[in-house]
Amino acid sequence: MTEKKDLKSLRIVMIGPPGGGKGTQARILQESTGIPHISTGEIFRNYARSGTELGLKAKALMDQGLLVPDELTLEIIEDRLFGKVQDEKLGCILDGFPRTVPQAEVFEEILDRHDAKIDYVINIKVANDYIIERITGRFSCVKCGEMYHDSFKKPKIEGVCDVCGATKFVRRVDDTVEVVQNRLNKYRELTEPLLPFYDKRGLLHSVDGVGEIDDVAGFIAKVIGMK
Ligand code: AMP
Repeated sequence: MTEKKDLKSLRIVMIGPPGGGKGTQARILQESTGIPHISTGEIFRNYARSGTELGLKAKALMDQGLLVPDELTLEIIEDRLFGKVQDEKLGCILDGFPRTVPQAEVFEEILDRHDAKIDYVINIKVANDYIIERITGRFSCVKCGEMYHDSFKKPKIEGVCDVCGATKFVRRVDDTVEVVQNRLNKYRELTEPLLPFYDKRGLLHSVDGVGEIDDVAGFIAKVIGMK
């Protein structure tokens, strides 16, 4: 990346294993830059809650840690990025998409069609050992979505969200050891091949995701030219 783009218009792809801190970092980055954080998992979870036939189909796959079909995923992404939902000058922080090389290939075609491109791909590296503990301990505020963890990030006052003061929290139904293992296998098999794919295009920046949340955020800020 040589030319200087408006920060808010950057298109950033976050890659990393489930539970590796990708969502947390995407939220921090959204706060510090104003670039919208777009999580396909979150979109599908909302979709599933809608109770429509398609939503229920997506839910059945997600609950087992399986992927939602590409056709649906790609249609939703194109609509979210280039439909009427958001100001076309705004970029995106993609979290959970693309998930596979075929999705990334079709995504390149979608971007081309809209005369757009990816600016940075951030790879958050975390070894398998850390992940199970990280995922099975996580929960979030029902109201604002702030993420917490049984060991690493408890609310300052037990049972009360630090950000919005709400007192209800949820755990994802797919955050069990068995489902996490399945998602991890899927990640290593299907998503990791995206790393050489984006490295070849000169877009890949890798960071050690086992460090402090703020250190990882600092690295990402540096990559995109904020520091
Ligand atoms: P996540 O919140 O990113 O862990 O995603 C939760 C679930 O949503 C995944 O296990 C998949 O079932 C589904 N999902 C999210 N992103 C995608 C994607 N890009 N392609 C297919 N399925 C996805």
